[in-house]
Amino acid sequence: MNEKIHIIGGGITGLFLAYHHTKRGDSVTLYEQSEKLGGVIGTKTVEEGLVELAANGVLFTDQIKLMLDDIGLTPLFPNKAAKRRYFWVRGKLSRLPISILAGLKLVYTIGFKKIKFNDTQNFESWASQMFGISVTKNIIEPAIGGVYGTRLDALQAESIFSNWDGSGKNTILQEIKKKKGKSLGTVSFPQGMGDLVSHLVRYLEPKIEIKTNYQLQTLDEILKWKGKIRFCISLKSLISVLGNRIQENEQPNLLSIRTITRFGTSHLTKKTCFGVLFAKNEGIRALGVLSNSDIFPGRAKHGLHSETWIYPESAKQLENETWESILEKDREHITNKADSPKAVYITSWNAVFPAYDRKLYEFNRFIDVLESDWISKGIDIRFFGNYRKGIGLRSLFESTGSE
Ligand SMILES: Cc1cc2nc3c(=O)[nH]c(=O)nc-3n(C[C@H](O)[C@H](O)[C@H](O)COP(=O)(O)OP(=O)(O)OC[C@H]3O[C@@H](n4cnc5c(N)ncnc54)[C@H](O)[C@@H]3O)c2cc1C
Repeated sequence: MNEKIHIIGGGITGLFLAYHHTKRGDSVTLYEQSEKLGGVIGTKTVEEGLVELAANGVLFTDQIKLMLDDIGLTPLFPNKAAKRRYFWVRGKLSRLPISILAGLKLVYTIGFKKIKFNDTQNFESWASQMFGISVTKNIIEPAIGGVYGTRLDALQAESIFSNWDGSGKNTILQEIKKKKGKSLGTVSFPQGMGDLVSHLVRYLEPKIEIKTNYQLQTLDEILKWKGKIRFCISLKSLISVLGNRIQENEQPNLLSIRTITRFGTSHLTKKTCFGVLFAKNEGIRALGVLSNSDIFPGRAKHGLHSETWIYPESAKQLENETWESILEKDREHITNKADSPKAVYITSWNAVFPAYDRKLYEFNRFIDVLESDWISKGIDIRFFGNYRKGIGLRSLFESTGSE
């Protein structure tokens, strides 16, 4: 096609978009404000093993496999023994924390109940109505909270399932089946997720122009550029780029989280597992923990065990508490014994996630209008990122590939 494409933002979204355009033979320039590409994704090598800074894995599909083949990267599949996923409910670890009756109700809801979103309900009350209180508290709350970095009452279903028809016509099963390409589970890479960034960059470097340390011009200047303009910056940066085009009360909410990678000699659970998700009000302040060294080989050295704990900002209740002490308290609650870690690495992410609530839904409608207004004036501009069509890398890969 050979079109001129300007991609602003060199995180994984910008890199994926650049990849799709090079496959079509377009002429791409990528503008990144920092000196490094990859955005939040990156892997640090420390004395004890690998520390992921953000994403720990990507959902593998046939389309992602083709991209990995192109960039010459071999996926690392999880150990089979790490399939076990635990929920922490009623003070104990459980693989299925609901009764058989509640389980049957869940299957019925997924297969037969029509989805109807309600803009006045938060996710917790919507899910309780849809699935019942037990399934919501013991399965949906921990599962969704661990991924979206907060609790259900701060989220809204319509914003999370933005691709679903919530008008009462379809069931969840019908919506799931609509999604093209089956996921074959989570994968990572031999040197962690940083491998994905470095291989994509190596693949793209000879094919596109990359401008790092790029100081963004004003939006008015950018709108004069010839060619297609594609914003792939985080929501936090976008709010500042939009400036007074958006009213303060229309600005979406942002969430801050901490991820803490802990290396130690003792295992959190008796059996090898993928990790544990925590229900609300169960005495644990973390949203979830991943058993890194159980999941992927090569994550910890010298017989050490590696875990990554995820905390919402609100988990720190006292000024003089440390994140290390909060983690050790949570851990002791599960194992019933105090332990000392060999090393702890904390990553602070301020305003890194959009809050998937009503405001984000409204903000996306506002962005839709901006895009079509500009397109009607002959300016081909589009916005991509985890605030548009889903938080995970698979969604980002698919949304950037679908334009
Ligand atoms: C702790 C954590 C764990 C996660 N775990 C997973 C997981 O296991 N699996 C999964 O699939 N997803 C996971 N995610 C989500 C996923 O990592 C993110 O959704 C994704 O990486 C976001 O990428 P992005 O490129 O859209 O944004 P970013 O990574 O924020 O990149 C945006 C880029 O734009 C640049 N930029 C900003 N402003 C400008 C400007 N004005 N001009 C030029 N450049 C600019 C920034 O410097 C940055 O490089 C996780 C996220 C976090 C934070």
